[in-house]
Amino acid sequence: MSEITTRPLILISNDDGIDAPGIRALASALDGLGDLHVVAPITEQSAVGHAITVRDPVRAREWPFKVPSGTIPAHAVTGTPADCVKLALNRILPRKPDLVVSGINNGPNTAVNVIYSGTVSAATEATILGIDAVAFSQDAWGKTEFEASGRWARRLAERVLERGLPSGILLNVNIPFLPFDDIRGARVTRQARGRWEEEFDPRTDPFNQIYYWMGGRFVNLDEGEDTDLEAVESGHVSITPIHYDLTAYEALREMETWTW
Ligand code: MN
Repeated sequence: MSEITTRPLILISNDDGIDAPGIRALASALDGLGDLHVVAPITEQSAVGHAITVRDPVRAREWPFKVPSGTIPAHAVTGTPADCVKLALNRILPRKPDLVVSGINNGPNTAVNVIYSGTVSAATEATILGIDAVAFSQDAWGKTEFEASGRWARRLAERVLERGLPSGILLNVNIPFLPFDDIRGARVTRQARGRWEEEFDPRTDPFNQIYYWMGGRFVNLDEGEDTDLEAVESGHVSITPIHYDLTAYEALREMETWTW
């Protein structure tokens, strides 16, 4: 089964859409590291979590995609980030990739936002399918500048290609929005505890019907210094190993004592 080639195949996806500046920056940063192939949503899919498309057709279209050394193969998909990874592995890529990277997301995916994140879900799907994966997010909204984040993404992707990840584990990486020289290094972290306190703003549509627009603010309920939020806020790249097995192993014994 071993390939003759020594160049790793790297699948690149995201949730902000194939034309988002973050995925362009990620592909450019990885230029030369291996054979790159982009398979990403044609429209923005932020906050779709791990949704997959089962009641509609999924279409994939070849898409122009340039990196500094030239053009790389790319497909835009009418689906979610998880769809993109599934379809890429099943139908689009010439062989099983060595690494899947997702991002660089417009905005952080720290704390509970991991649950809502399409960026993380693309990486999670790869892990489920047995491929090492890293999700990258930049801790700022609406920026077109990803130079420092791209350099960190390259460095971390190289490390993961060299070392490999433990089975079932992916990395959720959040990068502070700072000049490269001002980033103070990387920290391995845990997810901070916190939650969104939502406000649904009621508005009136042209037909006099009420609709709602979700807003809110994130509340950090965690004082720890070893969290993803704390790392990014103190100018460090946050690397959180995560897994998709949601079993609460620490509760198994307690639950077994109940009479069901
Ligand atoms: Mn996004």
